[in-house]
Amino acid sequence: MSKGILIYSEITSADYVHTVVFELSNKAVELAQKLDNAPVMALLLVKPDLINEYKEAFQKSGFDKVFYVVDERFGAYSTDLFAKAAIQAVKQIDPEIMLIGATCQGRDLAPRISTALHTGLTADCTGLDILENGKLAATRPTFGGQLMATILCKNLPQMATVRPKVFKPAKEDILRDTTFIKLSVDLSDYEPKTEILEFSKKFVSEINNLDSADIIVAGGRGMKNAEGFELLKRLADKLGGTVGASRVAVEMGLASPDIQVGQTGKTVNPKLYIACGISGALQHTIGMKNSAKIIGINTDKNAPIFDICDYGMVGDAFEIIPKLLEVLD
Ligand SMILES: Cc1cc2nc3c(=O)[nH]c(=O)nc-3n(C[C@H](O)[C@H](O)[C@H](O)COP(=O)(O)OP(=O)(O)OC[C@H]3O[C@@H](n4cnc5c(N)ncnc54)[C@H](O)[C@@H]3O)c2cc1C
Repeated sequence: MSKGILIYSEITSADYVHTVVFELSNKAVELAQKLDNAPVMALLLVKPDLINEYKEAFQKSGFDKVFYVVDERFGAYSTDLFAKAAIQAVKQIDPEIMLIGATCQGRDLAPRISTALHTGLTADCTGLDILENGKLAATRPTFGGQLMATILCKNLPQMATVRPKVFKPAKEDILRDTTFIKLSVDLSDYEPKTEILEFSKKFVSEINNLDSADIIVAGGRGMKNAEGFELLKRLADKLGGTVGASRVAVEMGLASPDIQVGQTGKTVNPKLYIACGISGALQHTIGMKNSAKIIGINTDKNAPIFDICDYGMVGDAFEIIPKLLEVLD
């Protein structure tokens, strides 16, 4: 019997459980079936007064066990404190697999846990499966996104980080008779080496906006200049969406790195993604190909973006977008 799949359950600075936790639990429930229904477990580092707030969400999301550690200082993320607590907790839980969201926090924490436990970590996975021998097969892009590599880990726990939006949360509640288990860890000799002075709210809201947007109007090199991106903004505003960008558009200074979509940017899955002047390189499409509907606007009828589009418009975005705006007025 497998020792189970543990999911690090990040609490955001706004005190909610990060959505990636429920995307991972939905995937873990599927993986657990291939491991003789191994338990799906959560690790929660939480302020004492908040644990009860989260219980229902875990009970509805397929978790068999929730291990939690309480400390007043867990209100704001700190690398040293969280790593110290998480390492001790994971040693006690002793899972077979540990999954962590590839968020800023998860990317910071995961390598510290894997190093301390002398195990392997596959970062930024886009696919997870269980092989016939019960091993975790973690797939991620490699060689600049030209190839997909499936990586196995020799030691336990087998660790992987997965970006938000790669997996979908369950459509319906997955009800479980969840057991909540309080763990004790020793933080008595903890001395903070860093101090958080402030969170930049502007930065946080821009990122969240792209993550949660139902409609994204994205631009690439073909949008050419600031006027091109202003057109995208007008279309996004009209549709109630937000603007995204290819890496080239970011490198040209047309867009902020926070709104880059793709392998080295964000993974998004909106209801509608309109790619304007974007060729459709694999490193871009890996971050948006799960969008429910994709529209491509490109002057080149052979552009690869048209291979993954639901609807394609061959033509100049500087002519097409003003016409769309007229129709929508
Ligand atoms: C390790 C690595 C990581 C990377 N990560 C990312 C990533 O996260 N995200 C990302 O986007 N890229 C990433 N890239 C870069 C990626 O390989 C491509 O170079 C990039 O996506 C291309 O951007 P683009 O589509 O804007 O530009 P181009 O490929 O130059 O395409 C521009 C398109 O605009 C069209 N066009 C021109 N004028 C018009 C017009 N007036 N109207 C309509 N269409 C027009 C052209 O026909 C062309 O298809 C990465 C590359 C590497 C090596």
